[in-house]
Amino acid sequence: MEQTQTTNDQYAVIGYPVEHSYSPEIHRIFAQQTGENLSYELLPVEPENFEAAVRKFAATGGKGLNVTVPHKEAAFKLSSELGPEAQRAHAANTLSLLSTNEVRGDNTDGIGLLRDLTQNNHLNLNGKRILILGAGGAARGILPPLLDSDFAELVLANRTVEKANELVELFNAAENLFVCPFNQLGEMGSFDLIVNATSAGLKGESFSFPHSCLGSWSFCYDLAYSAKQTPFVQWARDHGAGNAVQGWGMLIEQAAESFAIWRDVRPDTAPLLQKYANH
Ligand code: NAP
Repeated sequence: MEQTQTTNDQYAVIGYPVEHSYSPEIHRIFAQQTGENLSYELLPVEPENFEAAVRKFAATGGKGLNVTVPHKEAAFKLSSELGPEAQRAHAANTLSLLSTNEVRGDNTDGIGLLRDLTQNNHLNLNGKRILILGAGGAARGILPPLLDSDFAELVLANRTVEKANELVELFNAAENLFVCPFNQLGEMGSFDLIVNATSAGLKGESFSFPHSCLGSWSFCYDLAYSAKQTPFVQWARDHGAGNAVQGWGMLIEQAAESFAIWRDVRPDTAPLLQKYANH
């Protein structure tokens, strides 16, 4: 097919490290599907260079950035305008570069997770006991929509318990939201939904959560995703969880939400969900 040379809008995912990211492939597929003319690249940037890199990308025609570890809180601070989810989470994973100095920050992680849980996996959160493992950037992003659901009890557990306490303070502690240190999780009984928002085990280090948290009906959701089995999904399956899935669906749904913010058109996530479901 003949290639036409037209200038296109530039987007990128900024992080450190970022080489492993599937975002360029996902956004290129969305662009093809919707007929949007854009390019999407990887932007590896160390924390101390984050703001300069965002300004430079905007000054050279960049229209938007997805933001990943470790920049989500810096992206929130840099934003001159914020969407409601980023405002609540104090973290942004989507930047719209309105001009060199005007940046809008949104957070699509929570809506991405919620869509994957409730629409793709048909989970009903009403009256459920939910356990979230982790209190880093991803946990911040997923808490707002989970807190808006009609859950019975939500327990937040983190290796560094102070960080879990900070998050509960940030979200204005609902009375059915609790913090639990990792070493007391064994006393908390079982949960209907367990969300792993830690990066535990991903570098090959051993990890184990008490399996009394799991029942045969428990739905275990790992935010991490991999072409191989993730350590958390392996742990959940080994200990009899009813269902255990990786975070491919959240990755795809949060990307679709970012794409819709930037381009004002919502891509169909079904083909990508099907493609990655086999992982
Ligand atoms: P982060 O800000 O670096 O936070 C890491 C979290 O993992 C912290 O709570 C940390 O606890 C905990 N942790 C790290 N190593 C641990 C270990 N050995 N044992 C127990 N806890 C440990 O990272 P993040 O942005 O929140 O990302 C967390 C995970 O979510 C990553 O795997 C990331 O790829 C994934 N994620 C997926 C999506 C998606 O779309 N599917 C979106 C965002 C993130 P401390 O506070 O004690 O250090």
